[in-house]
Amino acid sequence: MAHALVLNATYEPLCVVPQRRALVLVLARKAVALEDTGVVLHAATLTVDAPAVVRLVRFVRVPYRGPVPLTRRAVFARDGGRCAYCGGTAATIDHVVPRSRGGNHEWHNVVSACRRCNHVKADRMVSDLGWRLHPPQEPTGAAWRILGTGRSDPRWVPYLEAYGGQDLAGLATA
Ligand SMILES: [Zn+2]
Repeated sequence: MAHALVLNATYEPLCVVPQRRALVLVLARKAVALEDTGVVLHAATLTVDAPAVVRLVRFVRVPYRGPVPLTRRAVFARDGGRCAYCGGTAATIDHVVPRSRGGNHEWHNVVSACRRCNHVKADRMVSDLGWRLHPPQEPTGAAWRILGTGRSDPRWVPYLEAYGGQDLAGLATA
């Protein structure tokens, strides 16, 4: 089942829901469709375009946002799909301080890396190898929560880019 992006009344990305759920919001006039998929859904008495992006009519207050989920997909997006060590095409996730040396699985300690660098680095430290690394940061912005779901759609990109997802075009079509 395809999914739709739900925006707050302020256009802030909120969550991802199945398209039928998004359609129910639109039919109940709780949301308006901003982008259609072109896919027609058939209900008992009507046929309608399945929405790809909807915006809530009323503002929903989000009380607390936890940390951005750390997923392989989100790390690749943050690092632009490049190896953090050599700039080549990334294919793996590397722990900067290796797990075997007490490194944690957290945003500040993971980077995307090519297979070669990951293999060469193994359980060594960046300083052992004389390599340079721009310290990895935790991404901020509502778009990253959507990315963490692992779902994407090219029609979502303009709405996510406005909220912290800088380089999402490639990700959304990946
Ligand atoms: Zn590399």
